[in-house]
Amino acid sequence: MSVSQIAVKSRGKNVTSRYIDGVVEHVKTKNPGEPEFHQAVLEVLTPLVAVLERHPHYRTEKVLDRLVEPERVIVFRVPWVDDNDEIQVNRGYRIEMSSAIGPFKGGLRFHPSVNVGLLKFLAFEQVFKNALTTLPLGGGKGGSDFDPRDRSNGEVMRFCQSFMVELQRHIGPFTDVPAGDIGVGEREIGYLFGQYKRIRNEFSGVLTGKGLEWGGSMIRPEATGYGCVYFANDMLASRGDDLENKVCLVSGSGNVAQYTVEKLLDLGAKPVTLSDSHGLIYDPNGIDREKLAWIMELKNVRRGRISEYADTFRGARYTRAKRGTDRNPLWAIPTDCAFPSATQNEISEDDAKKLLDGGVRLICEGANMPSEPGAVELFTRAGILYGPAKAANAGGVAVSGLEMSQDALRLNWPREEVDARLKGIMHAIYEQCSRTADEYGAPGDYVVGANIAGFVKVADAMLDQGVV
Ligand code: NDP
Repeated sequence: MSVSQIAVKSRGKNVTSRYIDGVVEHVKTKNPGEPEFHQAVLEVLTPLVAVLERHPHYRTEKVLDRLVEPERVIVFRVPWVDDNDEIQVNRGYRIEMSSAIGPFKGGLRFHPSVNVGLLKFLAFEQVFKNALTTLPLGGGKGGSDFDPRDRSNGEVMRFCQSFMVELQRHIGPFTDVPAGDIGVGEREIGYLFGQYKRIRNEFSGVLTGKGLEWGGSMIRPEATGYGCVYFANDMLASRGDDLENKVCLVSGSGNVAQYTVEKLLDLGAKPVTLSDSHGLIYDPNGIDREKLAWIMELKNVRRGRISEYADTFRGARYTRAKRGTDRNPLWAIPTDCAFPSATQNEISEDDAKKLLDGGVRLICEGANMPSEPGAVELFTRAGILYGPAKAANAGGVAVSGLEMSQDALRLNWPREEVDARLKGIMHAIYEQCSRTADEYGAPGDYVVGANIAGFVKVADAMLDQGVV
């Protein structure tokens, strides 16, 4: 049964669906101008009708009302001086959404589009994603409207230092442990960590995604991309299939996209696209290891544009990003599998139609909420394999959790051990989603499975801990 079928069914149902509708309406009224947050709340709460019907105490104890209200929202000024001695002022945020099952945990995003509503959506999703990992991690998210692209290393460092002067009051290894996200990679984590250590005089696991020599974990950079491909493989295995020789579309060209391509190559698939905010490249010959190494140097060292790929490799084509309904022509390319790995709402309903017309059999979300609700509806109705972000991209935060364990133990686990644990966690997430979907009469619907399994774990912890 699809999400919308559940919603339709729920309409006839009385008090439970009215309760959920009421919470959604309340969120919209109380958080005006935050469309991504509204979208995320609707997407998570809609499939919960069945679980609230079975367990009405979640409703009477007002668990949903409590879950949609962040425990704490921190907003602060970040002043810094650029290379021309001009003063710049950005805004910093940390949304501490839920600490029901562990310290707040979630990335920092530095991008001009960052605002409080966008971060509430990411923090809300993070709560359920983290619950699925089987690790004791609460949910949070933060960041700034600062844009590190086209800034010098010195400017990025001064910004990060100023950002941490305020953020350090609110975080700690047992309180809130941020990590990277869009615009925050190892360079930014390094500057943030250095400043935290300097102010607090404390070398601790307060951030994850750290360098290997100073408290980081093997496989953390690879974890989200690798985990997403492991999840895709588990979904395919449920239909007796695998990734061998599958043509794959990948969007984005940052951390998640790069390691998605690497793991796809390991498993014999043929990735043919990548993109950035300016446009996409399509390489019908396939992006092989040599080309991937070139892309990593382009994006992580030279910080250039993906368009350069088409100037370098014969047979590859570059298309500029457009605006409007046809804004992402990447999804019109015929394919077996698609791995959206750039940003939220990058697959519209129209894009979803094109993907289905092009023969897609699997969508596995590396990015957070990359598919608009109409697109999710089409994928589910078509009965293709659809791995929602909160399950499919949980590998990153899972290895962050393993990094916290290693920091606490003052130990470094070898690469093979962390990779094996990651693979085990992704399989456990897959099993939870699949089993829960079966249990609630929606076999193969991983949206229903992920949302219900994540919710039940957090809700039960909240009930155990009283009204806090
Ligand atoms: P990066 O900053 O490393 O890369 C982001 C990529 O997406 C870049 O290619 C960027 O292009 C592109 N992009 C960003 N914003 C837009 C936009 N508005 N339109 C088009 N393209 C865009 O980020 P990550 O790879 O870390 O994150 C990608 C996605 O994965 C995000 O949704 C993030 O929340 C999610 N995610 C990341 C995790 C992690 O461990 N890093 C964990 C779980 C989820 P350009 O370079 O031009 O900006």
